[in-house]
Amino acid sequence: MILNDLRNISDNFKTTPQTPSLFIGHGNPMNVLYDNAFTRSLNKLGVDIKNEFPIKAILVVSAHWLTNGTFVNKSKEPEIIYDFSGFPDELYRVEYPASGSPEFAHETNLLVPSIQETNSWGIDHGSWTILKHIFPKADIPVFQLSIDYHKPMQYHFDLAQQLKILRKKGVLIIGSGNIVHNLRLSFQSVSKLGENAALDWAIEFDDWAKKKIDTRDFSSLINFESAGEIGRLAIPTVDHYVPMLYSLALEDNNESIIYTHEEVTFGAMSMRCFRIG
Ligand code: ZN
Repeated sequence: MILNDLRNISDNFKTTPQTPSLFIGHGNPMNVLYDNAFTRSLNKLGVDIKNEFPIKAILVVSAHWLTNGTFVNKSKEPEIIYDFSGFPDELYRVEYPASGSPEFAHETNLLVPSIQETNSWGIDHGSWTILKHIFPKADIPVFQLSIDYHKPMQYHFDLAQQLKILRKKGVLIIGSGNIVHNLRLSFQSVSKLGENAALDWAIEFDDWAKKKIDTRDFSSLINFESAGEIGRLAIPTVDHYVPMLYSLALEDNNESIIYTHEEVTFGAMSMRCFRIG
């Protein structure tokens, strides 16, 4: 009976062309209101993907949903979460009325039973600030996967690999964080040098990560401490770094990896984005 149920559910998710895997460096939430090189790169990415693939749902692994255990949001109508403070009022008026995807949330749970379905959470700013530019019509269902903050880096990479098959079911998976993200040193830098400056060590780590991505040396990226002092400065906490590991783990052998945006700004924030496949 259970096997039959599983088979019937799986039949509902027919095979599609393999969707890309994306990593987006989201940075400052204010970008949602801006028109700049970063946001234009997101616009282009969305147009290209919509032209090439029938995307049925978007699964976002956001730096801003940290939990004990791994959860997937199954809300039919996920609420938009304004999970920040101290920004101008207009940021709190941005809407992204995408529906959720209880079906694919359940499919995710069937693939990896340790991923628990929940109605808590919704669409946080790691998702909506970028999706507003990638798919402005909000006409594709969105659901999020949380990051178990108590697990080591390898756990996240291994977990993401088990989700690879969703790429063949029309799900676009997006990791949303920042490869270099040190807010304390960013604020210091901005107050001294302005928003557009980039600190040497931040550029150096971003470049180190790029080289490891280019050579598919994912184990060095999982063990980022091997980069030494620049790694410690770039990743004082792992929340914004982990989503990149999810994106990379979804790579199939020999798929192309294209950088859709490259920039270090705010002193210590890498806006590097890439598309796999
Ligand atoms: Zn963030």
